[in-house]
Amino acid sequence: MSDKKLVALTFDDGPTIGITDQVLDVLGENEIVASFFLIGQQITEETGYLVKRAHDMGCSVENHSRTHQSMPTLSRQEILNEIQYTTELIEEITGEKPEFFRPPYIDYDQKMYDLIDLGFIAGYGCEDWVPSVTAKERIERVLHDANPGFIILLHDMEDNVNTVEAIKTIIPELKKQGYEFVTIRDLFRLSGISPQKNAIYMGANEVRKNYQ
Ligand SMILES: [Zn+2]
Repeated sequence: MSDKKLVALTFDDGPTIGITDQVLDVLGENEIVASFFLIGQQITEETGYLVKRAHDMGCSVENHSRTHQSMPTLSRQEILNEIQYTTELIEEITGEKPEFFRPPYIDYDQKMYDLIDLGFIAGYGCEDWVPSVTAKERIERVLHDANPGFIILLHDMEDNVNTVEAIKTIIPELKKQGYEFVTIRDLFRLSGISPQKNAIYMGANEVRKNYQ
């Protein structure tokens, strides 16, 4: 166990031109790293530079499916295709395979656990995909949930400027409270925890046990 107060900031649904750039700018200004769970079909010739930039900054780049469907209803082959497509594109750009997966909508079942050989991640969200949730509300919710080892779930999706605004406060505030921002990979590694099969994580020390 680490006696440090670690936190992993994670972003879903990118890469998104105009938003992911700004998120990376804020990370750079604060000299921290984060993790990006990418939608495969959004990784294109136009957006590939964002994937490369995140990787070059020391961020980890992970898998969030190809098409962002709820996956329990898909066939075994469709599930495998969803994962493989995104993993291959990420490896092509960064030279590294993803180690973690976040199920779209946090919808998952035993079949997915059996088929997908990646660590499953959930985390603490703040409804930041809802445009009417203000930056201030996002900040308050994330700071309220803060605990050592926790995973923050945000979205670098299109037009999500409120989240770009929110992290400008969330990051320095958590730093002030003694938190250290690490990638999802380092969160587990530095905590001395190996992600287990048949589990989805809210934080390094916290498993979410039940299917949704
Ligand atoms: Zn998503």
